[in-house]
Amino acid sequence: MLKKFEGIVIRTTDFGESHKITAIYSREAGKVPAMARGAKKTNSRLAAVSQLFTYGYFLVQTGHGLGTLQQGEIISPLRGLKEDIFKTAYASYIVEMVDRSTQDNEPNPYLFELLHQSLNYISDGYDPDIITHIFEMKMLQVLGLYPEMKRCSLCGATEGSFGFSIKENGLICHRCQERDPHFLPISQNAVKLLRLFYYFDLNRLGTISVKQETKNELKKAIDLYYEEYSGLHFKSKRFLDQMDSLKDKM
Ligand SMILES: [Zn+2]
Repeated sequence: MLKKFEGIVIRTTDFGESHKITAIYSREAGKVPAMARGAKKTNSRLAAVSQLFTYGYFLVQTGHGLGTLQQGEIISPLRGLKEDIFKTAYASYIVEMVDRSTQDNEPNPYLFELLHQSLNYISDGYDPDIITHIFEMKMLQVLGLYPEMKRCSLCGATEGSFGFSIKENGLICHRCQERDPHFLPISQNAVKLLRLFYYFDLNRLGTISVKQETKNELKKAIDLYYEEYSGLHFKSKRFLDQMDSLKDKM
């Protein structure tokens, strides 16, 4: 059956001399795998539309397993993502996360919006560290992970000074901190941001300016949480981390 999808190319792999196998994350059907025949040839009408990060409409002949990309129309090439190696690295991590966390043909409009908005923001020049951390926090519910970010996960208190506990799956207050000797002591500013990133509507992103020191805290808390609970390891994340340490040296 021929179907039209609004989606974003989240993976593309060369196949043979001239073909590409792509995965499109679509609004209508979630992840749709599709063969793009001849797409590696520069004169192919599929060459541009089958590139990583392309946002567009895709006509796919679907069937059992791998579909065939028949035609595409670019809405936005999200060019900003390709013009800067740093932006490419962040965007690669985001699409890899979506790819690795989803099955084919399982619609999730929330995730489509999250992906679309995050890539747009990075392409438009918003701080990619912040957008990526927001993405990571919002991605948790897609993975079925629900850290307690509103109140102390042990006593339920909403007032006090909070740290982050991997063991207790969320924030713990100063009164309970001795019950988890390994809790992560982070600044109250970092606590506020983690909570904000988890709950707020990404449509309403204003300008957020965050000190490097606070960014490091966010990264540490989020990385530890993913390591403990997600069971996922991302190739692009390793690259991103290497790039980070390179930036520090520059
Ligand atoms: Zn408590």
